Amino acid sequence: MAERVTDIGPPKYDKFLPPVIKDNYGKWKYHEILEPGVLMHVAESGAKIFSVRGGSGRLVTTDFIKDVCDLADKFCDGYLRFTSRNNVEFLLTDNSKIAGVKAGMKKLGIPIGATGHSVSNIVHTQGWVHCHTPAIDASGIVKAVMDDLFEYFGSHKLPAQVRIALACCLNMCGAVHCSDIAILGIHRTAPKVNHERLRHLCEIPTTIASCPTGAIRPHPDKNIKSVVINEPRCMYCGNCYTMCPALPVFDAEKGGVALLVGGKVSNSKTPPMFSKLAVPYLPNNPPLWPETVKAIRKILTKYAEGANKWERVGEWVERIGWEKFFEVCDIPFTFQHIDDYRWAYDTYRTSMHFKF
Ligand code: SF4
Ligand code: SF4
Repeated sequence: MAERVTDIGPPKYDKFLPPVIKDNYGKWKYHEILEPGVLMHVAESGAKIFSVRGGSGRLVTTDFIKDVCDLADKFCDGYLRFTSRNNVEFLLTDNSKIAGVKAGMKKLGIPIGATGHSVSNIVHTQGWVHCHTPAIDASGIVKAVMDDLFEYFGSHKLPAQVRIALACCLNMCGAVHCSDIAILGIHRTAPKVNHERLRHLCEIPTTIASCPTGAIRPHPDKNIKSVVINEPRCMYCGNCYTMCPALPVFDAEKGGVALLVGGKVSNSKTPPMFSKLAVPYLPNNPPLWPETVKAIRKILTKYAEGANKWERVGEWVERIGWEKFFEVCDIPFTFQHIDDYRWAYDTYRTSMHFKF
C-alpha cells in the first residue's frame, strides 16, 4: 500500500482538446453535415473544426488504437475522440487534409458515416466474450446486423436517425430500453437449482429478494439450506443467477433474441419513449443470426417506406397504430406481447379507436 495512488479521478478533459475547441469553447454558432460522415462546426470567431466519423467494432485491439492514433498524428495534430456510440472521430482544422484522413481510414478498413439520418453504430454489450449472464452474444450479432445494414451507415436515406442497440440479457446494459430497434437476449427456461453448491455460495435472502415475481422460496426441508423455484411463476429473467452462482439459467437451445422497437431518448417533437416488444423470440443462430438480421431489415425497410421525414421509428408506429405496425411488418401478434406485469393495465386499449 506504500506506493498506492488513489482517488485521482480522470485526467481533466480539456487537456485533450484541440486548440481550436479550447479557444472557442462554448462559442459555437452552427454546424453542417458536409457529406455522410463529415461535419463542420463554425464558431462565432469564424474558426472551423471538421470531424470525420468512422465506425469501430468497439471491441478493438491495441493495434487498432495505435493505427488510429498514427492517422490522427499524420493529419489531425494528434487529435481524435470516440463518440457516445463508440464511433471514432478524427478532428482537424485544415479541410484540405480531409481527403487524406478518409483515404487512411479506408486503408484501415474504417467505414465513414454515422451522421444524420443513418444507422449509426450499434451500442452493445459483452456477450459471450466476457460476461457470465448473457443469453446471446453481442459482438457476433452486431457484426451480422451491421453487415446487412451497411448501406445505411454511410448514407442519409432514412426518414430520421435509427438507433440500434443490443443487450445480451435483460439487465439491459446500454440502451436497448430506449432505442429505435433493440436486440435483447432472453432465456426461456427456469434456472436449475444446484442445492449442494447453493448453500456454500449464495446468500439466500438476497437471492429470494432478487426475484421480481416472487417465484423463489426457501427450501421446504429445513435441513436443506437452499431454495426452490416455482417454475410457473418464473419468467426467466436470470436475476437470481446474478445474485447466486448456483442458479445457472443459460440454455443454448432455448435462449435467444427478442426484438423491441420504438424507443428514443431525445425530446425532439415528442417526449422520450421506451422501446416495446415487437418479436418475442428468434433463435440463437451463430455465427450470422440470419433470422434476427432478416427481421431487423424488414422492420427498417417498412419504417423507411412508411415514415414521414424526421419521424423516428416510435413516432411512426404510434401514428399508424401498433396493430398496423404488426400487419405491415408481418409479425404475428402473440400472447407474449400483452403486458402482464404489475402496471400492465395502462398498456391495454381502453378505447374503441382501432383499425381492423
Ligand atoms: S446485458 Fe447482461 S449479459 Fe450483457 S453485459 Fe450486461 S449484464 Fe452481462
Ligand atoms: S429467473 Fe427471474 S423470475 Fe425466474 S426465479 Fe430467477 S429471478 Fe425469479
